[in-house]
Amino acid sequence: MKVAIDGPAGSGKSTIARMIAERLGFLYINSGSLYRAISFLALREGIDWRDIDKMISLVKKHHFDYLADGSVLVDEERLEEELRTPEVDAIVSQVSAIPQIRSEVNSIIRKISEGKDVVSEGRDITTVVFPDADVKLYLDASPNIRAERRYHERLEKQVPAKNEGERVASISIEEIRKNIEMRDKLDAQKPIGALKIAEDAIYLDTSDLTIEQVYDKVYKILRARIAHGR
Ligand code: C5P
Repeated sequence: MKVAIDGPAGSGKSTIARMIAERLGFLYINSGSLYRAISFLALREGIDWRDIDKMISLVKKHHFDYLADGSVLVDEERLEEELRTPEVDAIVSQVSAIPQIRSEVNSIIRKISEGKDVVSEGRDITTVVFPDADVKLYLDASPNIRAERRYHERLEKQVPAKNEGERVASISIEEIRKNIEMRDKLDAQKPIGALKIAEDAIYLDTSDLTIEQVYDKVYKILRARIAHGR
Protein backbone atom coordinates (compact mmCIF):
# COMPACT_ATOMS: atom_id res chain seq x y z
CA MET A 1 0.00 0.00 0.00
CA LYS A 2 1.24 3.47 -0.83
CA VAL A 3 0.17 6.46 1.26
CA ALA A 4 1.19 9.81 -0.24
CA ILE A 5 1.12 13.09 1.67
CA ASP A 6 1.96 16.53 0.30
CA GLY A 7 1.86 20.00 1.78
CA PRO A 8 3.96 23.07 2.53
CA ALA A 9 6.67 23.34 5.22
CA GLY A 10 5.21 23.20 8.72
CA SER A 11 1.86 21.71 7.68
CA GLY A 12 2.50 18.72 9.97
CA LYS A 13 3.06 16.16 7.22
CA SER A 14 6.38 14.79 8.51
CA THR A 15 5.08 14.25 12.03
CA ILE A 16 1.88 12.65 10.78
CA ALA A 17 3.63 10.48 8.18
CA ARG A 18 6.07 9.25 10.81
CA MET A 19 3.28 8.46 13.32
CA ILE A 20 1.17 6.66 10.72
CA ALA A 21 4.15 4.67 9.44
CA GLU A 22 5.01 3.61 12.98
CA ARG A 23 1.43 2.60 13.77
CA LEU A 24 0.92 0.60 10.58
CA GLY A 25 4.46 -0.77 10.35
CA PHE A 26 5.01 0.99 7.01
CA LEU A 27 8.29 2.45 5.76
CA TYR A 28 8.47 6.21 6.27
CA ILE A 29 9.93 8.20 3.38
CA ASN A 30 10.55 11.92 3.76
CA SER A 31 11.45 13.14 0.27
CA GLY A 32 12.46 16.60 1.53
CA SER A 33 15.23 14.93 3.54
CA LEU A 34 16.79 13.63 0.31
CA TYR A 35 16.79 17.13 -1.22
CA ARG A 36 18.24 18.35 2.06
CA ALA A 37 20.94 15.64 2.05
CA ILE A 38 21.97 16.63 -1.49
CA SER A 39 22.07 20.32 -0.48
CA PHE A 40 24.10 19.45 2.62
CA LEU A 41 26.62 17.42 0.58
CA ALA A 42 26.99 20.26 -1.94
CA LEU A 43 27.75 22.71 0.88
CA ARG A 44 30.18 20.31 2.53
CA GLU A 45 31.97 19.45 -0.70
CA GLY A 46 32.13 23.08 -1.81
CA ILE A 47 29.95 22.58 -4.90
CA ASP A 48 27.99 25.54 -6.21
CA TRP A 49 24.35 24.35 -6.52
CA ARG A 50 24.05 26.35 -9.77
CA ASP A 51 26.59 24.02 -11.42
CA ILE A 52 24.10 21.42 -12.63
CA ASP A 53 26.66 18.93 -14.01
CA LYS A 54 28.57 18.88 -10.73
CA MET A 55 25.30 18.54 -8.80
CA ILE A 56 24.24 15.52 -10.86
CA SER A 57 27.69 13.89 -10.43
CA LEU A 58 27.39 14.53 -6.70
CA VAL A 59 24.07 12.64 -6.53
CA LYS A 60 25.35 9.77 -8.67
CA LYS A 61 28.54 9.38 -6.65
CA HIS A 62 26.73 8.79 -3.34
CA HIS A 63 24.37 6.05 -2.22
CA PHE A 64 21.18 7.18 -0.48
CA ASP A 65 18.88 5.18 1.76
CA TYR A 66 16.49 5.62 4.68
CA LEU A 67 16.81 4.22 8.17
CA ALA A 68 13.76 2.99 10.07
CA ASP A 69 13.69 6.21 12.15
CA GLY A 70 13.27 8.29 8.98
CA SER A 71 16.82 9.66 8.91
CA VAL A 72 18.82 9.56 5.69
CA LEU A 73 21.80 7.29 5.21
CA VAL A 74 24.38 8.64 2.76
CA ASP A 75 26.87 5.88 2.11
CA GLU A 76 27.59 4.84 5.73
CA GLU A 77 26.77 8.20 7.31
CA ARG A 78 23.50 8.91 9.11
CA LEU A 79 22.27 12.46 8.50
CA GLU A 80 19.55 14.06 10.59
CA GLU A 81 20.14 17.31 12.52
CA GLU A 82 22.66 18.59 9.96
CA LEU A 83 19.88 18.57 7.35
CA ARG A 84 17.81 21.15 9.21
CA THR A 85 20.19 24.10 9.45
CA PRO A 86 19.59 27.65 8.11
CA GLU A 87 22.37 27.02 5.53
CA VAL A 88 20.53 24.02 4.09
CA ASP A 89 17.17 25.85 4.37
CA ALA A 90 18.62 28.67 2.28
CA ILE A 91 19.40 26.54 -0.81
CA VAL A 92 17.23 23.42 -0.64
CA SER A 93 14.33 24.81 -2.68
CA GLN A 94 16.71 25.96 -5.43
CA VAL A 95 18.45 22.56 -5.44
CA SER A 96 15.10 20.77 -5.61
CA ALA A 97 14.00 22.95 -8.54
CA ILE A 98 16.67 21.38 -10.79
CA PRO A 99 14.70 18.92 -12.99
CA GLN A 100 17.58 16.41 -13.27
CA ILE A 101 17.94 16.34 -9.48
CA ARG A 102 14.18 15.76 -9.13
CA SER A 103 14.35 12.88 -11.53
CA GLU A 104 17.26 11.29 -9.60
CA VAL A 105 15.44 11.70 -6.28
CA ASN A 106 12.20 10.26 -7.69
CA SER A 107 14.07 7.18 -8.95
CA ILE A 108 15.75 6.68 -5.57
CA ILE A 109 12.39 6.92 -3.75
CA ARG A 110 10.59 4.58 -6.15
CA LYS A 111 13.41 2.04 -5.93
CA ILE A 112 13.47 2.08 -2.12
CA SER A 113 9.65 1.76 -2.03
CA GLU A 114 9.38 -1.11 -4.50
CA GLY A 115 7.15 -3.89 -3.16
CA LYS A 116 6.83 -2.21 0.23
CA ASP A 117 4.07 -0.55 2.22
CA VAL A 118 5.15 3.07 2.52
CA VAL A 119 4.05 6.44 3.79
CA SER A 120 5.84 9.02 1.71
CA GLU A 121 5.63 12.77 2.05
CA GLY A 122 6.88 15.90 0.30
CA ARG A 123 5.63 18.32 -2.34
CA ASP A 124 5.00 16.16 -5.41
CA ILE A 125 4.42 12.70 -3.96
CA THR A 126 0.67 12.67 -4.75
CA THR A 127 1.16 14.18 -8.21
CA VAL A 128 4.48 12.92 -9.64
CA VAL A 129 6.23 10.31 -7.50
CA PHE A 130 3.21 8.12 -6.70
CA PRO A 131 0.32 9.35 -8.86
CA ASP A 132 -1.38 5.96 -8.29
CA ALA A 133 -1.04 6.02 -4.49
CA ASP A 134 -3.82 4.22 -2.62
CA VAL A 135 -4.41 7.20 -0.32
CA LYS A 136 -3.54 10.81 -1.09
CA LEU A 137 -3.60 13.58 1.47
CA TYR A 138 -2.80 17.27 1.28
CA LEU A 139 -2.05 18.90 4.64
CA ASP A 140 -2.13 22.67 4.92
CA ALA A 141 -1.98 25.44 7.55
CA SER A 142 -1.68 29.23 7.56
CA PRO A 143 1.86 30.65 7.06
CA ASN A 144 1.95 32.12 10.59
CA ILE A 145 1.01 28.86 12.23
CA ARG A 146 3.55 26.99 10.12
CA ALA A 147 6.34 29.41 11.09
CA GLU A 148 5.40 29.09 14.76
CA ARG A 149 5.51 25.29 14.55
CA ARG A 150 8.95 25.31 12.92
CA TYR A 151 10.20 27.79 15.51
CA HIS A 152 9.16 25.56 18.41
CA GLU A 153 10.51 22.48 16.63
CA ARG A 154 13.88 24.17 16.24
CA LEU A 155 13.89 25.26 19.88
CA GLU A 156 13.21 21.74 21.07
CA LYS A 157 16.01 20.34 18.94
CA GLN A 158 18.57 22.89 20.11
CA VAL A 159 21.34 21.90 22.46
CA PRO A 160 20.07 22.95 25.91
CA ALA A 161 21.39 26.40 26.79
CA LYS A 162 21.92 27.74 30.29
CA ASN A 163 18.68 29.67 30.20
CA GLU A 164 15.59 29.95 27.97
CA GLY A 165 16.46 33.52 26.90
CA GLU A 166 19.69 32.36 25.30
CA ARG A 167 17.96 29.61 23.38
CA VAL A 168 15.25 31.91 22.04
CA ALA A 169 17.77 34.55 21.00
CA SER A 170 19.69 32.19 18.74
CA ILE A 171 16.85 31.74 16.21
CA SER A 172 14.21 34.20 15.14
CA ILE A 173 10.63 33.38 14.24
CA GLU A 174 10.73 36.20 11.68
CA GLU A 175 13.66 34.59 9.85
CA ILE A 176 11.88 31.24 9.86
CA ARG A 177 8.69 32.86 8.49
CA LYS A 178 10.65 34.58 5.71
CA ASN A 179 12.41 31.34 4.76
CA ILE A 180 9.08 29.46 4.70
CA GLU A 181 7.52 32.16 2.49
CA MET A 182 10.52 32.08 0.14
CA ARG A 183 10.34 28.28 -0.11
CA ASP A 184 6.53 28.33 -0.60
CA LYS A 185 7.01 30.73 -3.50
CA LEU A 186 9.77 28.69 -5.14
CA ASP A 187 7.86 25.45 -4.57
CA ALA A 188 4.74 26.85 -6.28
CA GLN A 189 6.75 28.04 -9.31
CA LYS A 190 8.78 24.91 -10.05
CA PRO A 191 8.47 23.89 -13.70
CA ILE A 192 8.47 20.23 -12.63
CA GLY A 193 7.20 18.92 -9.29
CA ALA A 194 5.54 22.14 -8.15
CA LEU A 195 3.49 21.91 -4.97
CA LYS A 196 -0.17 21.54 -5.90
CA ILE A 197 -3.26 19.81 -4.61
CA ALA A 198 -3.92 16.61 -6.55
CA GLU A 199 -7.51 16.35 -7.78
CA ASP A 200 -8.04 13.10 -5.89
CA ALA A 201 -6.30 14.18 -2.66
CA ILE A 202 -8.13 14.68 0.63
CA TYR A 203 -7.46 18.25 1.81
CA LEU A 204 -6.97 18.89 5.53
CA ASP A 205 -6.41 22.36 7.00
CA THR A 206 -4.50 21.69 10.23
CA SER A 207 -4.21 25.33 11.40
CA ASP A 208 -6.59 24.91 14.35
CA LEU A 209 -5.88 21.27 15.07
CA THR A 210 -3.44 19.62 17.45
CA ILE A 211 -1.14 16.99 16.02
CA GLU A 212 -3.23 14.31 17.83
CA GLN A 213 -6.41 15.61 16.18
CA VAL A 214 -4.78 15.50 12.73
CA TYR A 215 -3.45 12.02 13.45
CA ASP A 216 -6.94 10.80 14.47
CA LYS A 217 -8.47 12.14 11.27
CA VAL A 218 -5.75 10.68 9.04
CA TYR A 219 -5.77 7.33 10.82
CA LYS A 220 -9.58 7.06 10.42
CA ILE A 221 -9.27 7.79 6.70
CA LEU A 222 -6.60 5.10 6.32
CA ARG A 223 -8.52 2.50 8.35
CA ALA A 224 -11.57 3.10 6.17
CA ARG A 225 -9.50 2.64 2.99
CA ILE A 226 -7.82 -0.49 4.34
CA ALA A 227 -11.23 -1.90 5.34
CA HIS A 228 -12.46 -1.35 1.77
CA GLY A 229 -9.52 -3.35 0.44
CA ARG A 230 -7.38 -0.46 -0.81
O1 C5P B 1 9.81 19.01 3.54
P1 C5P B 1 11.02 19.89 3.68
O2 C5P B 1 10.69 21.28 4.08
O3 C5P B 1 12.10 19.29 4.49
O4 C5P B 1 11.61 19.98 2.19
C1 C5P B 1 12.74 20.77 1.89
C2 C5P B 1 12.57 21.39 0.52
O5 C5P B 1 12.68 20.37 -0.48
C3 C5P B 1 11.24 22.08 0.28
O6 C5P B 1 11.30 23.44 0.59
C4 C5P B 1 11.00 21.88 -1.19
O7 C5P B 1 11.54 22.96 -1.92
C5 C5P B 1 11.79 20.65 -1.54
N1 C5P B 1 10.97 19.47 -1.79
C6 C5P B 1 10.50 19.27 -3.07
N2 C5P B 1 9.78 18.15 -3.37
C7 C5P B 1 9.51 17.25 -2.42
C8 C5P B 1 9.95 17.46 -1.10
C9 C5P B 1 10.68 18.59 -0.81
O8 C5P B 1 10.74 20.08 -3.95
N3 C5P B 1 8.82 16.16 -2.75
